[in-house]
Amino acid sequence: MQQALRVENLSVSYAGHYAVEDASVSIEAGLLVGIIGPNGAGKSTLLKAILELIPSDHGRVEICGRPLQQSRRTVAYVPQRSEIDWQFPINVLDTVVLGTYPNLGWFNKPGRHERQAALECLRRVGMQDFAQRQIGELSGGQQQRVFLARALAQNADLYLLDEPFVGIDALSERAIIGILKSLRDAGKTVLVVHHDLSKATEYFDRLILINKRILNYGVAAEVCTAGALTKAYLGDLPFTNQLGVAC
Ligand code: ADP
Ligand code: MG
Repeated sequence: MQQALRVENLSVSYAGHYAVEDASVSIEAGLLVGIIGPNGAGKSTLLKAILELIPSDHGRVEICGRPLQQSRRTVAYVPQRSEIDWQFPINVLDTVVLGTYPNLGWFNKPGRHERQAALECLRRVGMQDFAQRQIGELSGGQQQRVFLARALAQNADLYLLDEPFVGIDALSERAIIGILKSLRDAGKTVLVVHHDLSKATEYFDRLILINKRILNYGVAAEVCTAGALTKAYLGDLPFTNQLGVAC
């Protein structure tokens, strides 16, 4: 079976403190995978290190059997909403057109074809009527759908999304999870940082449980056992209290 992502002994530190320590995981293609763990567990750091947006201390990452330099075009990333400058003067359509850039040849500018492709992606997320709006004028759920459309426009094989359901309405959440499941059904691999444990088994095929180290990776229902979760969330009492309902 083809490995969509292979992380080997990856460690990342900030100012001498490990945020991710000796993480290893191999993920088969065609899975929808949730990354769960308490606040500050290193979930965002793991995604950024996979994408080489931040340097790692050591370790290796392969995407579809190749290093990132050779597979960058095949990876789409949707950062946490809080990391995006929503005041940046750009409209919805142009934001999505940016997603087509990795597939444009050198010296080529996006043209009619790319705009059509971007509009089609906006239609898939139900945002075609907002094409000319400034991104800052949208609700949280609409912003998240636009950034998902941008990722779709990239036509990637591996999708990494950081907390896409935080601060959005129920309708947008249903639309987004529906699209992520259809990507998975089309053979794509989707990794989603997620912290609402109540939906973890309903949404995901597999879960990565992380708290600095990867504590578990496997079938969602099996990872979501009270014992493993309590260990991961130890010290994070509000979360631990939710566990009975969650799994
Ligand atoms: P999560 O996404 O699971 O909430 P993060 O990956 O954002 O966790 O953070 C992991 C740890 O690294 C936390 O202790 C956080 O405070 C620290 N951290 C994250 N980003 C930075 C940074 N840019 N500089 C210093 N420390 C950071
Ligand atoms: Mg985070």
